[in-house]
Amino acid sequence: MWIPGAPPYTAERPLRVAVIGAGPAGIYAAEALTRQDDIPVAVDLLDRLPTPFGLVRHGIAPDHAKMRALRETMHRTLDDPSVRFVGNVEVGVDVTLPQLRACADAVIYTYGASGDRRLDIPGESLAGSLAATDVVAWYCGHPDADRKTVEEALARARSVVVVGVGNVALDVARVLARAPSELEPTEMPQHVLAALDAAPVEDVIVLGRRGPAQASFTTQELRELDSLAQATVLVDPADLVTESSSPGAPADRAVARNLAVLRGWVDHVAQPGAVRLMLRFHRRPVRLLGEDRVTGIEVERTVVDAAGHATGTGELSVLPADLVVRSVGYRGHPLPGLEVDPRSGTVSNVAGRVLRDGALSRGEYVAGWIKRGPTGVVGTNKHDARETVEAVLADAVAGVLDPEAPLGDIISVLRAQGAEPVLLVNWQAIDAAEVALGATRGRARTTLHDREALLAAARASAAAGP
Ligand code: NAP
Repeated sequence: MWIPGAPPYTAERPLRVAVIGAGPAGIYAAEALTRQDDIPVAVDLLDRLPTPFGLVRHGIAPDHAKMRALRETMHRTLDDPSVRFVGNVEVGVDVTLPQLRACADAVIYTYGASGDRRLDIPGESLAGSLAATDVVAWYCGHPDADRKTVEEALARARSVVVVGVGNVALDVARVLARAPSELEPTEMPQHVLAALDAAPVEDVIVLGRRGPAQASFTTQELRELDSLAQATVLVDPADLVTESSSPGAPADRAVARNLAVLRGWVDHVAQPGAVRLMLRFHRRPVRLLGEDRVTGIEVERTVVDAAGHATGTGELSVLPADLVVRSVGYRGHPLPGLEVDPRSGTVSNVAGRVLRDGALSRGEYVAGWIKRGPTGVVGTNKHDARETVEAVLADAVAGVLDPEAPLGDIISVLRAQGAEPVLLVNWQAIDAAEVALGATRGRARTTLHDREALLAAARASAAAGP
C-alpha cells in the first residue's frame, strides 16, 4: 500500500505517461519527464503518423534546413531507453481514449492545432482558394496532404495572394517565389519540386489587414525575402506612410526593425523575369471573386486606430489572383472523448491540468498549441511542456494519481486490435529509406510522403529484424 509522502514510483513500477503527439510539445514533455531524477518514469510517445517530429517535419519550411535540424537534438529523447515512440496510432480509431488512459498513470495531450482558421467571407470555398495549412502540408510531404487540389491550383497560379502577415504567410510566399535551384537541395518530395518548378508564378502579394506595425512575422523571416535568387521584394511606400504617421506607432523594437527593413525596400524595382513579391498592408479581404474558380480578391482599405484595431474605410479595390492562400492561423480540433473550447480551439486547462466541465480532471494534462493556441516558435514549447510536466510530477508525488493502478500495455492493446504501431526501430528504417532515396538524386534526404510507402519502409525493418 502506498503511503502519502513516500516515493510513490519505482524502477519496477515507474510513473507511466502517455504523450499524445510526437511533435515539439510532445518531445519536450518527454524530455522534461526523463531529465528529472525524482520519479522513475516510462513514457509512451504516440503519434497519428508513422513519423515523429510533428511540425518540425511537416510545418517548418523545407528551405529552413537549420531549423529542421532541430530533429537531431529531439532524437536524443526518442533514443532515451525510458521513452517508447509509438507511431501510426490514431486515438479514436486504433484505440479509444479510455483504453489509452487504462495504459497510463497520466496522459498529456500534445497533438497541436492542425486545422485552419477560416476567413468567413464569400467565395472562400472556390477552387483556387487554399488554406496555408494545406499548402504547407503538401510541400512538406505530409501523408494526408491533398496533392490533387494543391497541384491543380498551382498549375494555374500566375498571380497569388497570400492573406495574412504571419510567419506561415511568409513561408508560403517564399517557397512559391523560390527558384527551382534553391529548392532542389531541400527534403521536398520530388513531385513537389516538379509542381513548383512548373507553376507559372509571376506575382505573389502578401496581404495584411492591418499595418506593418501590427504584422506578426519576425524580422529574420521578413529580411529573408530579399535574398531570393529570382524574386524582387516590393513595398508600396504609401502603405508605410500611413503607418508611420499613425498615433503611437511604433514603440516596439521588433516593430521598428520590421519597419526599417520594409522602408529599405521602397525603392526596389522589379527585375525582368523575376517573381514580384509584394507586401501590402491596410487591406481587409471582403470576398473572393470568380464563378467556378478564383479570379481575384476584393479588399477594403482599412485604418488602424490607437488600440490597434482595423476599421474599414469603404474604399474597395480588386487584386487579381488565380490562387488565394489563406494564412490566418491554425486551430486545434477535439479528439473523440476530449473537447476543445470552440472559441479558442484549445483544451481548457489550468497551467497544463485539463479541465472537464470546469473541474480538474485527474491524470489528464495538455501542452503545446492545443494548450495555449498556435503561437510562438518551436522553443516556446519547451517552457510550456516543462510547466505541464511540473504539474504531472507534483500530482504524482501528492498521490493524486493512483500509483497502484494496474496498467495495460498500449502496444499489446494496439496489436490485439489489429493496429500496426510503428516503433523506434521502424522509424529508424523509414529514416534510412528517406536518406537512401535522397542519395539517388545527390540530396541529403527526400521526404517519403505516401503513407503506404512509409509503412512499407517501416515493415522492412521488421522483416530484417533478429
Ligand atoms: P499568426 O502569426 O497568428 O498570423 C496570422 C495572420 O493572419 C496575422 O497577420 C493576422 O492578422 C491574420 N489574420 C487573421 N485573421 C484574419 C482575417 N480574417 N483576415 C485577414 N487576416 C487575418 O499565425 P501563423 O503565421 O499561422 O503562425 C503560427 C505560429 O507559428 C506563429 O507563432 C509563428 O511565429 C510560428 N511560425 C514561426 C516560423 C518561424 O519561426 N520561421 C515559421 C512559421 C510559423 P491580425 O494580426 O490582424 O489578426
